[in-house]
Amino acid sequence: MNGIRTENRPVLIAGGGIGGLAVALTLHQIGVPCIVFESVKEVQALGVGINLQPNAVRELYDLGFDRELLNSVGIPVQEWALVGLNGKEIYSEPRGTKAGYHWPQYAVHRGRLQMLMYHAVCERLGQDAIRTGHKVTGYRNDVNNKGVIVCVETRDKQSLEIEGALLIAADGLHSAVRAQMYPDQPPIRWGGSVMWRGTSQLAPIRTGASFVGLGTHDHRLVFYPITPADPQTGLATINWIAEITIDNSAGWISGEWNKQVDLDHFLPYFADWNYDWLDVPAMLSKASAVYEYPMIDRDPVPSWVDGNVALLGDAAHVMYPVGSNGASQAIVDARVLGAAVLKYGASMDAVTSYNEELCDDVSKLVLRNRGAGPFGILNIVEERCGGNFNDISEVISPDEIEAYMAQYKRAAGFSMEALNNSPQTIAVDPESQRSYSYGRPKA
Ligand SMILES: Cc1cc2nc3c(=O)[nH]c(=O)nc-3n(C[C@H](O)[C@H](O)[C@H](O)COP(=O)(O)OP(=O)(O)OC[C@H]3O[C@@H](n4cnc5c(N)ncnc54)[C@H](O)[C@@H]3O)c2cc1C
Repeated sequence: MNGIRTENRPVLIAGGGIGGLAVALTLHQIGVPCIVFESVKEVQALGVGINLQPNAVRELYDLGFDRELLNSVGIPVQEWALVGLNGKEIYSEPRGTKAGYHWPQYAVHRGRLQMLMYHAVCERLGQDAIRTGHKVTGYRNDVNNKGVIVCVETRDKQSLEIEGALLIAADGLHSAVRAQMYPDQPPIRWGGSVMWRGTSQLAPIRTGASFVGLGTHDHRLVFYPITPADPQTGLATINWIAEITIDNSAGWISGEWNKQVDLDHFLPYFADWNYDWLDVPAMLSKASAVYEYPMIDRDPVPSWVDGNVALLGDAAHVMYPVGSNGASQAIVDARVLGAAVLKYGASMDAVTSYNEELCDDVSKLVLRNRGAGPFGILNIVEERCGGNFNDISEVISPDEIEAYMAQYKRAAGFSMEALNNSPQTIAVDPESQRSYSYGRPKA
């Protein structure tokens, strides 16, 4: 797939998170040179669990991250379930291939997935393709709109100006590129909830690979394993998110993923959550570290593109994690962008086409996630019976739940029929990517 027009300039990528790395791997796959600028000095396996929906797993497979590699950073999810505060099941459905998707849903460790992708970039594109300790601070579209000049600051305070065909800004929630594109954008928006996140070693419940949402809309716990159970101990790494909605008129706009807090910050909210099938306080107490993160997003912008510059991933559409689709959408963005570059060259036409295909729909998803996403069913149960029920079908019918879930999946782009029947985003033979060795056990 050589010969794509880049005017001999690489595509420049701000940010080496999951979004930026997916862009780099995709561009390499279609023969387009690129360089990633990552602000941190050293890429490390930070974060806890995230979900990869089947639409994103499909794209990762096409990038050569097959089942064997994804199993090294997570596990295929078998089930998604909602349980009321009374400990009784409200709803459950199979997920991934169990549900009939052609691709699994994965629960993975965010940092380990990022490292897998980072090492793949180093192996496939060469170490020089990712410049750590390089922070993108701004850009200028060149006068003829044929390319872009990107301003970069190194850790030793050198200021560089680098010419590229395009700038793809995957620089996350606090994107410097988005701030330049929208200097008057409102501050980060806090929705009133706070999440505490951690992992604990515990025997997995239900299918052994179940995603469980427990509680009510404004007081809930989400948990799922991100490793299989150890055959010796029976214990798996269980990722959990404990969440409450609080009255904090001062707001909460900082949004730092790695802010650690003590357990006593939030354990009292869950002190009496003790069921015969799960001792919640015991599970939370087993975490070696707890991270506090507010439920924040940003108001959508009308366009992700300014000339030869495009926003991607969280920089374009940071959203509440209620639908478990932030990382998945970043990967899908990268592939849609790649398909556009394949069609139009590394040009303004390509980023315009990418923007037209995704910006409106994903912006709607950001707003939709301000509701409760698929957890909205917990709201309905709360409203109708205060969370107290014996027979859930007397509160909400299976048809109503099915319709609610189907509508959300359609909006989030992982409706099963649509996905199973859609052509590859980029027509590649995934086998051709398997020659890369990174992460694979040596023969
Ligand atoms: C450290 C960290 C931990 C996280 N942990 C979780 C988690 O536990 N659960 C969860 O659901 N989501 C987590 N996220 C968010 C999640 O990874 C994203 O929502 C999703 O993967 C989309 O990724 P992204 O690449 O668009 O953005 P991000 O993952 O935020 O990546 C952005 C990257 O850009 C870099 N960067 C920022 N500014 C600049 C700049 N000016 N120039 C160059 N590089 C820059 C950042 O260092 C980062 O590597 C975390 C993000 C980070 C950065």
